[in-house]
Amino acid sequence: MPVLLFAEHSDGQFKKPALEAATYGYDLAQQMGTELIAVSVGMVSDEALNKLGEYGVRKVYAVRNQDFNSFVNAAYAAATVRVAQQTQSSVVVCSQTYNGRAVAARVAARLDAAALPGVISLSDASNHFDARRLAYSGKGVQELQAVREKLVIVVKTNGYKVEANPGPIEIAESSFEADRMDLGVVARELVKASEGISLTEAETVVSAGRGMKGPENWGMIEELAGLLGAATACSKPTADMGWRPHHEHVGQTGIQIAPNLYIAIGISGAIQHLAGVSSSKHIVVINKDPEAPFFKIADYGIVGDLFEVVPKLIAEIRSVKAGA
Ligand code: FAD
Repeated sequence: MPVLLFAEHSDGQFKKPALEAATYGYDLAQQMGTELIAVSVGMVSDEALNKLGEYGVRKVYAVRNQDFNSFVNAAYAAATVRVAQQTQSSVVVCSQTYNGRAVAARVAARLDAAALPGVISLSDASNHFDARRLAYSGKGVQELQAVREKLVIVVKTNGYKVEANPGPIEIAESSFEADRMDLGVVARELVKASEGISLTEAETVVSAGRGMKGPENWGMIEELAGLLGAATACSKPTADMGWRPHHEHVGQTGIQIAPNLYIAIGISGAIQHLAGVSSSKHIVVINKDPEAPFFKIADYGIVGDLFEVVPKLIAEIRSVKAGA
């Protein structure tokens, strides 16, 4: 029985979360002595589907009729369930994105499967699919075991490596049509809040808080982010006060991220903020208060006035880039 990947695309492209889940699915399939197959729902070109072959997928079921032009979680889940049943896959792997989670929950319910959410380690198929996930807002690690035969594994974004496992891939067209009941709400139009780098996929994030004093000072944050090819984020109060858009708010009640580098500027490091960022691989904190709690989990800390430190950092990066 193959391992089935729900290959989530964004505007027809498979991005990092999908490739992490593909690598995870491939590693698991290797362990189980089987193959990784995938289901892709929506309008995705053959060229994009072929890319999945580079990450270990050996067959992809493409569900490309017009019902699936926009993401509808129940319909996408139904298509995934159909492929799981058709291929007798008992393990489905999804990414822990908004859409991935919505699909995973529905697939688990419809297949009567257990769900392992937010895993950060490869499941041990020989031992109840033992896997680890972060708990207590990232302060602990929980060991999970599946107690059912069927399983949906949700791979934490930035929680698993991306590795190329190239090989041939077969594209199988699926004629699956969505049930009208599953198309209860359909998106007519999608207006992007920003054209910048997606926060959940960014390798580097430059984030700022109330220490910025006001929205008019954010130019230097955007400049720094631009120089580093980073996404911008913010603390909750700055979004609540309208200094920054809500989609940038990270933390317990915002987006949870785990970039390679998180630069926190003028943010105190309250536990609710850390809940969304403490899984970052490297954390740099800039704060004028040496007692700011954020320093306790920082890899590098600069105690100083951000209005002096950040412009110096920008100038230094510019001069390094100019010399390169
Ligand atoms: P502050 O706590 O005011 O910190 C500002 C920091 O800037 C200070 O450390 C200060 O020393 C520093 N500073 C000031 N001036 C300068 C300067 N010139 N140079 C350098 N440093 C300077 N918060 C979140 O962020 N995300 C969440 O998801 C979230 N969820 C919450 C959920 C609940 C239920 C509750 C109760 C709270 C939640 N909060 C959340 C709010 C959280 O408790 C904090 O209040 C918030 O994170 C503080 O934001 P801040 O660090 O920007 O501001």
